Amino acid sequence: MRPTGKLHLGNYVGALQNWVKLQNTHECYFFVADWHALTTDYDDTARLGENTLEVVVDFLAAGLDPEKCIIFVQSHVLQHAELHVLFSMITPLGWLERVPSYKEQQQQMPNKDLHMYGFLGYPLLQSADILIYRPAFVPVGEDQASHVELTREVARRFNNFYSYQGKPVFPEPQVLLTRSPKLLGTDKRKMSKSYGNTILLSDEAAVVEEKIKNSVTDRPALTDIGSPDRCPVGNLHQIFSDRERLEYITRGCTTAGITCVECKSLAIQSVNAHLDPIRKRRQQLAQNPERLREIIEHGAQKAAKAAEQTMTVAREAVGLLALKSVAGLVPKDVSTAPLRAPESIASAKNDDERWELQSAGWLERVSKTHPLTKDRPRTFISRRKRKVGVHTATEANGTWIFHLADRPVNVLVLITQDKDRFLHDYVLPPKVVQDHWKQFARSGNGVSITVKRGAAGAALVLNGNEVPIQQYEGNYAALE
Ligand code: SF4
Repeated sequence: MRPTGKLHLGNYVGALQNWVKLQNTHECYFFVADWHALTTDYDDTARLGENTLEVVVDFLAAGLDPEKCIIFVQSHVLQHAELHVLFSMITPLGWLERVPSYKEQQQQMPNKDLHMYGFLGYPLLQSADILIYRPAFVPVGEDQASHVELTREVARRFNNFYSYQGKPVFPEPQVLLTRSPKLLGTDKRKMSKSYGNTILLSDEAAVVEEKIKNSVTDRPALTDIGSPDRCPVGNLHQIFSDRERLEYITRGCTTAGITCVECKSLAIQSVNAHLDPIRKRRQQLAQNPERLREIIEHGAQKAAKAAEQTMTVAREAVGLLALKSVAGLVPKDVSTAPLRAPESIASAKNDDERWELQSAGWLERVSKTHPLTKDRPRTFISRRKRKVGVHTATEANGTWIFHLADRPVNVLVLITQDKDRFLHDYVLPPKVVQDHWKQFARSGNGVSITVKRGAAGAALVLNGNEVPIQQYEGNYAALE
């Protein structure tokens, strides 16, 4: 239901009254379509929030029970918008341009610029509103049946493009037609807020009385005969009076046997008797605004839970990257991106501190996937008890020189910091370390290893030869 203001008896008998029955037989989702209100009233939103609340109150007053059904506000469940985006990617423009109400409403509102993307797309938003709950049925009046047909086509199209574990994501919901009794407005035109001829669900008894008393009838003169079918007051009897009273006024009207004054006073009794419990519930709600807030919040939570379940499936079906699968999708043996060394390296007081700072980023990145324990300075033990030497050097003319103790390790990690302060981590596996250990330059108790940047990437410089190590960058698998 769009929040265009307080609901009137036309809205009530056209939909709401039926929903109150459906909540006892079906699992139902009812919402106030505040985004839909924006598709036509985008330029006047001053009362949007207030109107939204009014409709929720009308829902509850009319007898929708938050214990039996889910009541919420559309814009509180963001998944509706997300699914709308996905649908908008696969829906041909022609489908939307052909929806009858697209042209009709433009003609009905000549003073309104409705050449808006949101207005064209509103039946698709409606499809998302429906399909996000993967329902079996949509309770609508006949005038809305074409929208449900569009929804079925969208579901079919989505299922043709994407599937979840080989199964379709969306059902093609059926229309659950609501027979809506005819109810003329007090001026004999269709009951509509824009005609100012409504009786509101929230009208006080005296206001209802006044409106019915002033209602146009089907009998201009006392001696004329009339028809309750063509009379707003007669329509009210048809909906709200018991059989006996309806038979009485029908006979009286069609034979000029009663006056319209009497007929109206009976209609006032029937309507007010029906609206009394609704007014009572409204009063109770007004006395407990906290309860109202709670109902709206809980409704949003429950709806969002169901909507999120659908979106989890829909996102995966479309192939979007799920956050939880990021770790699983990152190739294990390729580093994600060069790490930027902390700016504070320059301020390090000594070599050890500089080393800690330079290697901190690398250790943090690696320790998440390959836990390492400290053995001695710059030497770590992997999960499988391999010795891992970690060493850092900063760039000098495209060359890095690492100084380390002449103490063999299984895996050698050489972290180069380039002149832009990016760190690159080359993880030399046991075979490479073993093959080249003896060729590293020696001085005293130490070993120095030179890495050079060449055309093909980083390379070890060994006795004038270059051994490429580019392929080991981020090769964390060697730590296992
Ligand atoms: S008698 Fe009743 S139903 Fe007939 S025209 Fe008068 S008000 Fe309408």
